[in-house]
Amino acid sequence: MVITRFAPSPTGDLHIGGVRTALFSWLHARQHQGVFRLRIEDTDRERSTEASTQVILDGMRWLGLNADGDIVRQSQRFDLYNQVIEDMIAKGLAYYCWCSPEELEAMREAQKARGEKPRYNGKYRNGGEPVAGVQPVVRFKNPLDGSVSWDDQVRGKITIQNNELDDFIIRRSDGTPTYNFCVVIDDAEQQVSMVIRGEDHISNTPRQINLYQALGYAVPTFAHVPMILGDDGQRLSKRHGATNVLDYRSEGYLPEAIINYLVRLGWSHGDQEIFSLEELMQYFRINQVNSAPSAFNTEKLRWLNQHYLQQADSARLQALLPDYLQAQGYDLAAHTLAAAIPHYLERAKTLKEMAEHMCWIAVDPQEYPMEAQKKAFKDEQTGERLTYLAEKLAALGDFDEHSVHTAIEETVAHFDIGFGKIGQPARLALTGGAPSPDLAVSFVLAGKEAAVRRLQAAVDYLKKSKYKQISWTQSGKKIDT
Ligand code: GLU
Repeated sequence: MVITRFAPSPTGDLHIGGVRTALFSWLHARQHQGVFRLRIEDTDRERSTEASTQVILDGMRWLGLNADGDIVRQSQRFDLYNQVIEDMIAKGLAYYCWCSPEELEAMREAQKARGEKPRYNGKYRNGGEPVAGVQPVVRFKNPLDGSVSWDDQVRGKITIQNNELDDFIIRRSDGTPTYNFCVVIDDAEQQVSMVIRGEDHISNTPRQINLYQALGYAVPTFAHVPMILGDDGQRLSKRHGATNVLDYRSEGYLPEAIINYLVRLGWSHGDQEIFSLEELMQYFRINQVNSAPSAFNTEKLRWLNQHYLQQADSARLQALLPDYLQAQGYDLAAHTLAAAIPHYLERAKTLKEMAEHMCWIAVDPQEYPMEAQKKAFKDEQTGERLTYLAEKLAALGDFDEHSVHTAIEETVAHFDIGFGKIGQPARLALTGGAPSPDLAVSFVLAGKEAAVRRLQAAVDYLKKSKYKQISWTQSGKKIDT
């Protein structure tokens, strides 16, 4: 039975690198009809927060990385951990150590001065007298000689000499058990068969294996996946952009784009870029994950996201977009949104960009960008033509693509001009220069009332800025007045 787990510490955001190891664990379990568990490692009471636990749960739910069974919180298991620790002390597998922080510091300094690697010197390994005023820690009796090896699924065989390891602390002086201890107890109890985690944990693994063996537990298989780097080769952090997976949701990414992107970061199957979940279940192999770190590439993620936006059901996008519209400070009627979506799939790479691009439908232009004005409003007859079109539109009964198109055609015919002479200024008046579809479609999206109001507003604006307009026409350049 394949059992994997994701065991985040709730001390901050759900980091995108953590999500990748969660995804690998989830995929490995699912492709073997196994079990995937979620465990909240909150033994560090000072740094762990409930808010961060919620972020982890939200993020996993959003991505569809559902866990099996109950979510275990280590903070609720202190009694169990302490019982095992007492047992280990009784059996001579662990012992109290009364070294004070000052004493340990002096030990380290002396070792460094002798050119040795700083480590605990085993002072209380064979017993010793309690020291008044010092709360003891409990240390694990690590084997003194021999070595620890494991066949890492990503990095190959790794061997560490026991004399490189010291007797690590399993219970702090405040009575709380440590990560290296709890993780072993939990993984053993939950019968985890493969531990997939970041390579920053490699140095913990030999210690944990020794603990498994001392306690007579079966040792799981390990896979340590490399870190994700930013584009400058440094470990991915906030200064490279968003690292919290929920920020990607607010930026308008779809979960399947994130999943597809993260799985390809350090794993490949020929040159295939787009994978359905079914294909991932079929092709993904944890032992094919590259052991070299990979760099995060936002452009590629955006490209994948656009692909999945284009694939998405219109009903799904209609349900998702209102949050993004509201974040931009506006709303659209459901039928307008439905009509607008197909026109924005070509250009926008995220839901947030779609919401930005569509804003003009709901909001009258506040200004016309200078460069656009110079082109669209340069003819002296512009005001007259826009007035004519506004009157035509106002008179329409059915305000649909066909009737609006006819009104535009009639305006063109009336003034005997090319389409651009009315199309350009009308579009600028309507959208303020925002990306917009075919002009008749755009008028319909805005609705009759807004269409007429915006054309008239442009006419009023042109009247007031007549002098500027003439200056451009004569010199071809803007003259500030
Ligand atoms: N709580 C550890 C972390 O977040 C988990 C390490 C592990 O997977 O063993 O880094």
